[in-house]
Amino acid sequence: MSTAMVEITGVHKRFGANEVLRGITLRVAAGEVAVVLGPSGSGKSTLLRSINHLEKLDRGTVSIDGELIGYRQRGGKLHELTEREVLRQRGAIGFVFQNFNLFPHLTVLANLTEAPLAARTRNRAQAEAKARALLERVGLADKESAYPRQLSGGQQQRVAIARALALDPKVVLFDEPTSALDPELVGEVLDVMKDLARGGTTMIVVTHEIGFAREVADTVVFLDEGRVVEQGPPAQVIDQPEHDRTRAFLAKVL
Ligand code: ADP
Ligand code: MG
Repeated sequence: MSTAMVEITGVHKRFGANEVLRGITLRVAAGEVAVVLGPSGSGKSTLLRSINHLEKLDRGTVSIDGELIGYRQRGGKLHELTEREVLRQRGAIGFVFQNFNLFPHLTVLANLTEAPLAARTRNRAQAEAKARALLERVGLADKESAYPRQLSGGQQQRVAIARALALDPKVVLFDEPTSALDPELVGEVLDVMKDLARGGTTMIVVTHEIGFAREVADTVVFLDEGRVVEQGPPAQVIDQPEHDRTRAFLAKVL
C-alpha cells in the first residue's frame, strides 16, 4: 500500500453564498505528478490555496506526509494552529504562482535565501550554497546578481521555481505557471518542471498545457464547479474522457 504524500479529504470551501469547493478528495503519492484541469472559476486556485492553508477550510482536511495542515487534532476535535505554526508548515509546501511573485527589490540570490534565512534553517553560507545549486538546476547560475525586472518572464518563473525548492518542500504546487508567459517562453519553464518531475518531486500542477499533462502527469484531475468530475491517468482522462463536461473542456483547450 502506498502512503499518500498529499491527502485531501472531503474539502469544502465557500465564499459567502458561492460554494467553490464541494467535497474534494484527492491523494497524491510521493514522487507523483497530479495535473489539475478545469474551466475558469471551477475552484482550481482555491484548491491549491486550501492545501497550504492560505484559505481556511469550511470542512475536510489536508495532510502532507501524514501531518495535518492548519490544525491539530486533540480529543477528537480540530484546533487551529497558530500563524507561526502554519508558516512552519508552509515551508514544506512550495508554491509557484502565475505571476512569479518574486521580491522585486531583492536580487535573484536574495530571493532564494530569504525564506531559509528567515526560518533559520540554514546559515547564510549554507543558504547561498543551496541557492546557487538550485539556480544551476534551472539554468540560471549566471543570474544570481540580477534583479527580477532585468529578466524575461520565463527566467523569472524559473527563479520562482528555484525559490519554491529552497526549503526542500515535500510537495510543490503550481498555479498556471506558464499562463502569463509569451508563447516562446513557455517551453523553458515546462522543461524545468519536467526535470523536477523526473527527479521525483511530488507536484500538483494547475495548467492548460495538455501536452505537459500527457507527458508528465501520473494522474489528471478534471475539476468542474468545485467537484472532481473525472480522475485517472492521462491516457484515460485526456484521450478517452467519460464525461461530457470533460470532453467539452478538452475540445476548447486542445
Ligand atoms: P479557478 O482558479 O479555477 O479559475 P478560483 O479558485 O480562482 O477558480 O475561483 C473559484 C470561484 O471562487 C470563483 O467564482 C471566484 O470568483 C471565487 N473566489 C475565489 N477567491 C475568492 C475570494 N477570496 N473571495 C470571494 N470569492 C472568491
Ligand atoms: Mg485560478
